[in-house]
Amino acid sequence: NPHLRIVLYGSGGVGKSTILIRFLLGKFIQEYDPTIEESYRKEIELNDEKIIFEILDSAGCEEDSIIIKRCLKFSDFFVLVYSVDNKFSFKEINYFHELIKRYLLEKNENKKDYPKILIGNKSDLFTKRRITCKQGKELAKKLNCKFIETSAKTGENVHQLFYESIILAIQD
Ligand code: GDP
Repeated sequence: NPHLRIVLYGSGGVGKSTILIRFLLGKFIQEYDPTIEESYRKEIELNDEKIIFEILDSAGCEEDSIIIKRCLKFSDFFVLVYSVDNKFSFKEINYFHELIKRYLLEKNENKKDYPKILIGNKSDLFTKRRITCKQGKELAKKLNCKFIETSAKTGENVHQLFYESIILAIQD
C-alpha cells in the first residue's frame, strides 16, 4: 500500500496543530499543547485503494534547525500554511519555500520543483483579514502549486486540504 508522509510548514500560530486536530478528531480545540514532532497515522480509501498516510505536526520546525532537518527528511509532500490575518506569516512562506528547495538541492534530488500546496488558514476571521484570497492565489501561481483557504475553527475545507494533498502526492 502507498505510504505518504505529509508535513505542515508555516510560522508559529498559523494553526498547523489545530488543522491537524480538526482533521483527525473532527473538533476545534482552542488551546492545544502540541508535543514536538508528534506524527499521526490515518488510513483512507481512495478509488478502492487503501492509502496509509502519516502527518507530522511540525511544532518547533520554525525555530530549531535540527528539528527542521528532521521534518524535511520526513516529508513526501509539503503543506505551506499561513494565516490570512497575519502578514508576517504570509511573507514567511517564501522562507519555508527556499528552505525546502535548498534542502532538496543538498540532498541532490534532481528535481526543479517539489510537491506542495499553499494554505491560507483562519478564513473565518473576516474583520481581521489582511491577506486577500487573490494575494494567496497569486503566491500559489508564483510557487507553481494549488491554493486553498481553510478554517480549522469552522472546519471549512480542512478535509479537502488533505484529500487534495494525497491526490497531488500520489500523482508526483
Ligand atoms: P501552530 O503554531 O501553527 O501549530 O498554531 P496553533 O494550531 O497552535 O494555533 C494558534 C492559535 O490559532 C490557537 O489559539 C488556535 O485556536 C487558533 N486557530 C487555529 N486555526 C484557527 C482558525 O481557522 N480560525 C481561528 N479563528 N483561529 C484559529
